Amino acid sequence: MDGTNGRVSPIVNAMSVDVEDYFHVSVFDGIVPRSTWDAMESRVCRSTERLLDIFDEYGVRSTFFVLGWVAERHPQLARTVAERGHELASHGYAHRLIYDQTPAAFRDDVRRAKQVIEDAAGRAVHGYRAPSYSITPRSLWALDVLIEEGYRYDASIFPIRHDRYGIPVSPREPFPIERDVGALMEVPGSTVRVGPLNLPIAGGGYFRILPYAWTRWGIARLNQIEKRPAVFYLHPWEIDPEQPRLPAGWLGRFRHYRNLAKTETRLRALLREFNFGTVAALLRSHGHATAANEVAPLALPYVW
Ligand SMILES: [Zn+2]
Repeated sequence: MDGTNGRVSPIVNAMSVDVEDYFHVSVFDGIVPRSTWDAMESRVCRSTERLLDIFDEYGVRSTFFVLGWVAERHPQLARTVAERGHELASHGYAHRLIYDQTPAAFRDDVRRAKQVIEDAAGRAVHGYRAPSYSITPRSLWALDVLIEEGYRYDASIFPIRHDRYGIPVSPREPFPIERDVGALMEVPGSTVRVGPLNLPIAGGGYFRILPYAWTRWGIARLNQIEKRPAVFYLHPWEIDPEQPRLPAGWLGRFRHYRNLAKTETRLRALLREFNFGTVAALLRSHGHATAANEVAPLALPYVW
């Protein structure tokens, strides 16, 4: 503790929420077909509102990457998020992994999502996060589509090795990406460097499945030693231990259901120990305006 309101560090990290229902998760692709989504019990509004109440308690503003499919059915939820002072961003429309789509289908998806969320809330949407961080070496074309569709930042590249996603050599902190069609800011998932590895430390299954001490150590190390903010993420269904159980394989069930009853308590500990704000505020505080035309050009540091 350094005495800043009892916080580990005065650095303001980014808090983010991927607003989707429990049955949208990629683990359940093939188990819950899209044609049956409307027939499923929806729990996303209640869980998201609970997160809004928790954030209010700690005076935290967050970025909510809302699934277009959710905003279309629950426009008041997107409105409420904006009215309560948070940043609205896009999680795409139909939660399809980018590398499983054609560029044309992906363009339709992110255009529709942006339109639906903006119409619901009456606010501009600048940010995007892909389902399951699915911008990888084989889907970098998605960055061009995002720029052309008016997105100003992307938060879909995790600089790690993982069975489904990740670009291990990608930069570990926010950086501008310059493409032929324009530029945008990339806001990667947070990692700590241990030997030759980048290890994920800030959210999702890593927060819920591993002990809380892992996340606390990782964010403290980023804040205190590297003097950088972390970008944390979670989902509304992660604070809903009562959600219906769906039949996935053992790994999917482990990843989705493990420690659901512990997540809210851990989140409260995190909000007591660290400072958080929106992704847009993080970019502003680092001198990166979210307007694409204000982004300094830099070559994409990949050679694929
Ligand atoms: Zn998602």
